[in-house]
Amino acid sequence: MSSLLIKNGFIVTAEKSFYADILIVDEKIVEIGKDIKKKILNLEIIDAKGYFVLPGGVDPHVHMSLKTGSIVSADDFESGTKAAIKGGTTTIIDFVTPLKERSLLKELYDRKKVASKSLCDYGLHMSISYWHEGIKEEIIKCMENEGITSFKVYMAYQDTIGVNDEDVISIMNFMSMYNVLVAIHCENGKIIASYHKKFLSEGKTKPIYHALSRPEETEIEAVKKAISFSKRTNCPIYIVHVSTGQSIKEVEKAQHQGVKIFAETCPHYLLLDKREYNKSDFDSAMYVMSPPLRSGSNKRELWEALKKGVIQCVSTDHCPFNLKWQKELGINDFTKIPNGVGGVRERLALIYTYGVLKKRFSLNHFVNLTSTMPAKTFGLYPKKGTIEKNSDADVVLWNFGYKGKITKKNLLQNCYTNIYEGFKIRANPHIVIIRGKIAFRDNEILVRPGYGNYLYRSKVKCSIPVHRSS
Ligand SMILES: [Zn+2]
Repeated sequence: MSSLLIKNGFIVTAEKSFYADILIVDEKIVEIGKDIKKKILNLEIIDAKGYFVLPGGVDPHVHMSLKTGSIVSADDFESGTKAAIKGGTTTIIDFVTPLKERSLLKELYDRKKVASKSLCDYGLHMSISYWHEGIKEEIIKCMENEGITSFKVYMAYQDTIGVNDEDVISIMNFMSMYNVLVAIHCENGKIIASYHKKFLSEGKTKPIYHALSRPEETEIEAVKKAISFSKRTNCPIYIVHVSTGQSIKEVEKAQHQGVKIFAETCPHYLLLDKREYNKSDFDSAMYVMSPPLRSGSNKRELWEALKKGVIQCVSTDHCPFNLKWQKELGINDFTKIPNGVGGVRERLALIYTYGVLKKRFSLNHFVNLTSTMPAKTFGLYPKKGTIEKNSDADVVLWNFGYKGKITKKNLLQNCYTNIYEGFKIRANPHIVIIRGKIAFRDNEILVRPGYGNYLYRSKVKCSIPVHRSS
């Protein structure tokens, strides 16, 4: 049995901030109170004076070891979760993405094997890329036996993992009977494909055409459609990586009408914009992700939506590819550039520095957006996402005195480029604890590959998003 006592901490949860000690026995928080004094054998005491004590971050949207065509994304579950831990994230939710006609359960078991070297705890969303009667039984088994309570559909990528509108409606109809969440990638795949054809036939092959082939309307139109399907089927939905102000307006309107709709955005849409695609050489391929970076005015609207609670979660969609050998596959054809960027290491420091310190929202709301709401939305709360008695002891000592810059010299992921190169950050984790074990201290990872547990999740733990008054 191992025990930790965190003394003199200033604890920050989504609801409140207060001074207290935390007693951890084995994997759980067993007591929170003033001046805890315990005589326990081998009790390790951690002095948290001068740090914020936060619940571990929950990143609800990452892709480690993502296969695309002939390559695999730069981070696997080992390097990717090391990066997560160093950034203060103690739980990730990744995906199982079976290709059409493959068995969901077989793919799930295979994915669990790949994920088993994870250093932090992990859950999995199940993607549905093919709809037919026989799949229903497998979906029910995923829910009942595997604790999978969120299913993803792609309106884009029609040739591979995307599903057509009719099938999206059938999927939502089915999921609504079980009240599980459907996560949706909203982009009109057909329009994007027609732009691809047009640009390539005109000899336009540079990375910027990736962005130009996915204009804002392709997202907004798909968001509207997803909302109308949700209304029709009464299925709760979660719109992944919202990138435009107009999409937010649609989401907000629907939430006011009582539609069960949740949304996330990512640090890259909050902090970067489409000017990155103007770089003259192939370097702009680093920023190729879908949806692409938008014009600058969207950033302000996204921050505002986070503040108001129209968007509930900040995820990263972490899926970096190196320029050499990987992004370079598309050096003569932008449609062949693998889509994705990193961020799992930087998420908390960026949202703290550019959200809390820029006075866009409170410290408590920062915890809400990066830990508590992701845990509630995906059925992990109160095991994850908070500091409470009986919760898992996932705790971060947050060094708010830190001053630094993100640089590729300080590489922490398996990718040698970083889209946040040069960004100032004003905080970093000092100590990270996962289920009662110190996972990171003195810049060193202290848990082994495989320490992470697979998480069986319950259903969504929150009602329709309630907005804060603006
Ligand atoms: Zn994704």
